[in-house]
Amino acid sequence: MEDLIGKNGISQFQKIIDILSPSMDDFLYIYDLKDDCYYISPSAVERFAIPEAKFHNAQQVIMGFVYDADKDRLNKELYLLLAGERNFHDLEYRWLDKEGNPVWINCKGQVTYDEQGHPAYLIGCINEIGLKQKADNISGALGETSLQRELEKYGGTRIPGFILRLGIDNFKEINENRGIDYGDMVLRKTAECIESALSEGQKFYRIVTDEFIVLDPDPAHKDEEAVDIYKKVRSSLDDFIEKNFYDVFYTISAGVLTLDKVVNLEYSNLMKLSEFALNEAKDRGKNQYYIYEKEDYFQFLHTRQLIKTLRQAVNNKCEGFEAYFQPIVDINKRCLVAAETLLRFRTEELGMLSPVEFIPLLEESGLIIPVGKWVLEQAMMACARIQKTLPDFRVSVNLSYIQVLKSNVLSEILTGVEKYQLKPGSIMIELTESGFLESNANFIRFCEGLKEHGIPLALDDFGTGYSNFHYLYNLSPDTIKIDRSFTLKALHNDYEYNLLQHMVDMTHSINLKMCIEGIETDQELKRICEINPDYIQGYYFGRPGPLSDFIREYVEGESELFAESSSVYQ
Ligand code: C2E
Ligand code: MG
Ligand code: MG
Repeated sequence: MEDLIGKNGISQFQKIIDILSPSMDDFLYIYDLKDDCYYISPSAVERFAIPEAKFHNAQQVIMGFVYDADKDRLNKELYLLLAGERNFHDLEYRWLDKEGNPVWINCKGQVTYDEQGHPAYLIGCINEIGLKQKADNISGALGETSLQRELEKYGGTRIPGFILRLGIDNFKEINENRGIDYGDMVLRKTAECIESALSEGQKFYRIVTDEFIVLDPDPAHKDEEAVDIYKKVRSSLDDFIEKNFYDVFYTISAGVLTLDKVVNLEYSNLMKLSEFALNEAKDRGKNQYYIYEKEDYFQFLHTRQLIKTLRQAVNNKCEGFEAYFQPIVDINKRCLVAAETLLRFRTEELGMLSPVEFIPLLEESGLIIPVGKWVLEQAMMACARIQKTLPDFRVSVNLSYIQVLKSNVLSEILTGVEKYQLKPGSIMIELTESGFLESNANFIRFCEGLKEHGIPLALDDFGTGYSNFHYLYNLSPDTIKIDRSFTLKALHNDYEYNLLQHMVDMTHSINLKMCIEGIETDQELKRICEINPDYIQGYYFGRPGPLSDFIREYVEGESELFAESSSVYQ
């Protein structure tokens, strides 16, 4: 090695570094340990806080661009190298970049010795540990850095064909259940299947653990070609799974992004949109593909924005939420007996939103728990207020299953009943039939708790979900509510009308009450009254409205409620 470096020392080696440097991402260096002189690839000067490619007083200058916390470690290492106690240098530590930010590097180097056996030079290479992998040895695919470079080549002028983003479904579970080696095998196999599905010019990259991207440069290639690759990959995966007698079983989803649908071709935007496309495929049930459509993406952004707005409202003491109340009448006694609490949300930008639009978002984000608590409080407050005039008045509240399963809603109800000194049975809980979870322990405990404390329960939207009369036994509700969609069917179809008639009879035979929702006209009321329900809720008697309106219209002016409907009872 001494011969190679020769009498000219660093300067001779400098030429070699200068020749190699442009074709390398890493940085070569030579450190003359005797003269304390250092030379590094000029590209390192552009990246790090290094004053020049060649400098004297090397040990001191180097410390100037080493991250403070790592200086001690480096000093110890240099001491060992200079003392001849170590002949190979391999250290991971941090250098400062041009902005003064620490950057992880791995510095490796070989010590050469002079004729007397003293350390003469340290020669080696530095690479950035944090740089994303350019290729991946498990799957054999190129890495994300390579994809980025490839896409940046297009620079927004020449638009390639499509990006197909493929993701292995439930990969985390595969790794957890079968171990990392098995997971690696799945990755390798998937990569093989993808590679074998490609045509000339198409390239594939591994982006994150379980996701791959196929890039097709041909502008003529669009959705169909991308879908074709997905189908080929799936079919060869299926073959592989079958050949292995289902020892391995997994599925794959795909998002297709045809690039002439995209205006902003910047790398980060393409990654965002292709990720959206793949997530859509997964959200729609996995083991399928989804083709990117601008409208869906805008809807997704709208939803995300709405969740943000809802969260801000919750953090702001539920400002923007309103509790509306709709009258429920006892059709036999001809009087107002209860109100259903119905949530509203209003923003300056969007106006009043329907709960059908925002309740699923509150559920998805968990915000239904604080909002549900707020609604409960409003309902109890309203009930206490109305009971001053109508002592037997009841208020019902819709609960989401998320509240039942993930919060202590029963204790919130009991605390409220005590706080507002409500009579037992004043607060009725409405649960929808479709979410009913017969075998969940928390759910069963909740239902038992309601019974124990005399809190009535209504089974909402009966007849719209998977109606199961067995639920009636298990849940033992006090009231069954028929949704407007069912009411409408019954009003327009004799078969459904008979069915509803029998449901009312059956309900009465097991001592439950029946409430029919969605009555809007005199005629509808007349027809529905013939089947003898107990309660009616509908626009005919009143639309949902703020508490003050409710009190003014129905509590203080109650006699008005039946004035128009008198013809029905003649
Ligand atoms: P729901 O509990 O079945 O409430 C009855 C829905 O029917 C209400 O819709 C009400 O305004 C509507 N409605 C009543 N009578 C008529 C009528 O004659 N004609 C028509 N066209 N509609 C009528 P809304 O207020 O839009 O609420 C929709 C659903 O949102 C509710 O259905 C309930 O499932 C849910 N929801 C409302 N508030 C809450 C809440 O505080 N918590 C939870 N978890 N869900 C709520
Ligand atoms: Mg309801
Ligand atoms: Mg209902």
